[in-house]
Amino acid sequence: MKDTLPRLISTDFPPQRRGKLEVLQANITLTCNQSCFHCHVASSPKRKEAMSHETLQLLLDMLDRHPSIHTLDVTGGAPELHPEFRWLVTEARRRGVEVIDRCNLTILCEPGQEDTAEFLAQQGVKVVASLPCYSAENVNAQRGDGVFDASIEGLQKLNALGYGKQGSGLELDLVYNPLGASLPPPQPQLEKAYKEQLKEHFDIEFNQLYTLTNMPIQRFGSTLISKGGFDDYMKLLKDNFNPSTLPGLMCLNTLSVDYLGQVHDCDFNQQLKLSLGNAKEPVYLKDLLDADLAGSPIRIADHCYGCTAGQGSSCGGALVS
Ligand code: SF4
Ligand code: SF4
Repeated sequence: MKDTLPRLISTDFPPQRRGKLEVLQANITLTCNQSCFHCHVASSPKRKEAMSHETLQLLLDMLDRHPSIHTLDVTGGAPELHPEFRWLVTEARRRGVEVIDRCNLTILCEPGQEDTAEFLAQQGVKVVASLPCYSAENVNAQRGDGVFDASIEGLQKLNALGYGKQGSGLELDLVYNPLGASLPPPQPQLEKAYKEQLKEHFDIEFNQLYTLTNMPIQRFGSTLISKGGFDDYMKLLKDNFNPSTLPGLMCLNTLSVDYLGQVHDCDFNQQLKLSLGNAKEPVYLKDLLDADLAGSPIRIADHCYGCTAGQGSSCGGALVS
């Protein structure tokens, strides 16, 4: 895989500083039952890296020490494959913190995971699930053969438990990202189309659609370099820079923790191995238990333009309408 960082590190992106810490995002395993082309963490069934029990405990300690953190956002890989996923979720919910499970849907039908959807519902976990299109052809092209049918089965399972249904309190949000080197279409219009198509063809309901811009890093960035499209894609991102997205950047209120317990300004910086702020050496969660990071600088590079192009992009979808 080609390294995109040397092409990103010199930047004219506007400097950013942290605000109040509200979201702790943790990548607890790189193991995944899929190996998608666009995956910005390069997960696959071959990856075995996973967060230790000690670091999982540090996440909970962080919640205890920082009452401003209202959400634990659990990601991977397929986070459900971590042997202590359920313990972590239960402990975080016991503390009254909202838990997000970044779920790939197909995991819900894998052997040994048959009761995962029930567990998520019992704990009141918010499910954010990738479904890059409502057409089987496009989903299978991006994520692999058979992924669309398994994703639909996963969604139907969640719906049957109340997820995505009005008044259930069980939130189910879907995530779209473009198949190639283009910006996502407007989020509200695409959400309307998703809702109509999924209801009509599969009787599926969900709450919100998040549109995400592909980041010029990892597999996607490497492929752009191989095919000679990297500079054009960066130009597209920069030409569409939208300053009104800056106040919504997720790095302003989120800390991203990797499976080793190292801390980064966001999940993308984690994948680029860019340490928190201006640190030259890795920064560990164990050293931040009592830290107040508000006002400290954020590590930026040219990939940050992926968060500010057009309507903007974050773990919660578009930043402006
Ligand atoms: S399902 Fe998600 S984590 Fe797994 S390979 Fe695909 S994009 Fe990566
Ligand atoms: S890539 Fe990360 S650091 Fe850069 S603007 Fe986006 S969230 Fe912030």
